[in-house]
Amino acid sequence: MSDLKYKRVVLKVSGEALAGDKGFGINPPVIKKMADEIRDVYNQGIQIAIVVGGGNMWRGEAGAEMGMERAQADYIGMLSTIMNGLALQDNLESAGVPTRLQTSIEMRQIAEPYIRRKAVRHLEKGRIVIFAGGTGNPYFSTDTTAVLRAAEIDADAILMAKNGVDGIYSDDPKTNPDAVKYNKLTQMDILNKGLHVMDSTASSLSMDNNIPLVVFNLNKPGNIKKVVEGQNIGTVVEG
Ligand code: UDP
Repeated sequence: MSDLKYKRVVLKVSGEALAGDKGFGINPPVIKKMADEIRDVYNQGIQIAIVVGGGNMWRGEAGAEMGMERAQADYIGMLSTIMNGLALQDNLESAGVPTRLQTSIEMRQIAEPYIRRKAVRHLEKGRIVIFAGGTGNPYFSTDTTAVLRAAEIDADAILMAKNGVDGIYSDDPKTNPDAVKYNKLTQMDILNKGLHVMDSTASSLSMDNNIPLVVFNLNKPGNIKKVVEGQNIGTVVEG
């Protein structure tokens, strides 16, 4: 326990990370691998809350671009995060980790409604809490949800797990080979350099609450553990 940098974290897992190579839908073997990694970190005694995205199934913005009403399309997106939450819960429980799924939109037959104090209690009792349904409001993202929940439960850090990208770069490393990776940044650096880390709502909430953020590559085995031990494998945004 003493060699852990963070004692309570919010892990943000995008929908894409649950989809595997196909980039779409739920891929149980991929989720199983992730669940095993999360279990290893859990076994170190760290309190973990997980915010799941839904982009592997649906994004409200894309629905709106195809002519749907944005709010209606966003609700479909929120429901897709709940499907992902159920899949992640299933795999974590199979890995031997006690969990609770809490949804921002009530769905009592399959999950608890989100209640902040209850979520904190679950964490204290050694359960992983999965937050699904986003904020429960259209026009928001699950990145914003991760920052919001982290502030609400007083998390020590937000672990922003990325699919294949190992941190924050000066430019998009997929299109610009000269892009430079940053190991450490402040919130002010992000503003001054005009870096795009999260959507603007999530960024401003993060800046206002000043919760350390670690951006790292989820695809490398052992990375979540390295992050909670404070190893310098991604980009840390602090201060
Ligand atoms: N969404 C929403 N409100 C929220 C969180 C999510 O309306 O508070 C919807 C939105 O349509 C979004 C979709 O759910 O496109 C999936 O979430 P997100 O894009 O954040 O998932 P990720 O990119 O992390 O997989």
